[in-house]
Amino acid sequence: MNRKVLRNLVSAILTCYATVAVSAPHWTHEEQATWGAIQDTSQSVVPLNYPYAECSIGAHQSPIDFAAAKIDNKRKLNDLDVWYDVDTPVFFNTGHAIQVNTSANYKGELKIGEESFPLVQFHFHEPSEHAVNGVKFPAELHFVHVGQDGRLIVLGVAINVGEENATFQTILNNMPTTSGGQNTNASGIQIDPTTLLPPLGHNTFDYLSLAGSLTTPPCSEGVQWYLLLDSITISSAQLDQLKGFYAGNARAPQNVNGRTVSSTK
Ligand SMILES: [Zn+2]
Repeated sequence: MNRKVLRNLVSAILTCYATVAVSAPHWTHEEQATWGAIQDTSQSVVPLNYPYAECSIGAHQSPIDFAAAKIDNKRKLNDLDVWYDVDTPVFFNTGHAIQVNTSANYKGELKIGEESFPLVQFHFHEPSEHAVNGVKFPAELHFVHVGQDGRLIVLGVAINVGEENATFQTILNNMPTTSGGQNTNASGIQIDPTTLLPPLGHNTFDYLSLAGSLTTPPCSEGVQWYLLLDSITISSAQLDQLKGFYAGNARAPQNVNGRTVSSTK
C-alpha cells in the first residue's frame, strides 16, 4: 500500500471515524466508562452492533498509570530518531480534540531502529491521559505515525505549564472553533513539529514504551506507544486557550493486565 492510501485510511480511522462512517455512533469523553456498550442501531449483527466493544473487552488498552506497571530498564532499546520537517499542514477540529494533519507529500517521520514511520497527524489532550501514581500532567501531545504495513506508532509528550510555546500558539490561532472544522491553510502557514519536542539532552530521547491502543473509540489495539521522559511547556494562558477548545478530553488510565513497560533508564 502506498503512503497516500495509508494516510487516507488512517485519517479515516483516527480522525473522521464519527463523521465519515455514517454508521459510527456519536461518543463523548463524559461517557467513556460505557464506550464499549454504545450501539450502532443501523447494524443488527454483533460485533458491528457494538463498534467500540474493544474499549471494554480489550486487554491492552491505553492510557495507563505507569505506577501500576512493571518497568523494565535492563533491555537495550532502539534510539528514537525524529526526522520531522517543516510542513504546511491542515488545522482540524475533530470534535474531540484540536489536531494538525500533515500534508499529503509530507516527508517527516520517526525512525525506530531500521524502521521508518511517517507522521500523519498530531493532537492534544487536556489533562494528560497517561499518569504517574495518580498524577496527571496539564496536557499531553500525541504524534501519530503509520508504517508501510499499517502499524500505528504514537509518540507521547507530557505538557507542563511554564514558558509559552510559539508553535502551539500558531496552532491555537489557526484552529477552527467549530467541531469538524478544517482550516486547509490556503495562506501557507508553516509548522515545524520538532519545536513541540523537548530539547535533546544527549543525542537521543529517553522514553517509556509499551503496547497499547487508540485512547478514543474504536480503541483499536496494536498501537505501540513511546512516551518521552522529558516534557515541554506551554503558558497558563495557552492552557486556558486549549481548554477553550476541549477540556477533559482525556481517557482515564486502563488496566495494565500484566504488561511490561520498557524504559531507556
Ligand atoms: Zn491522543
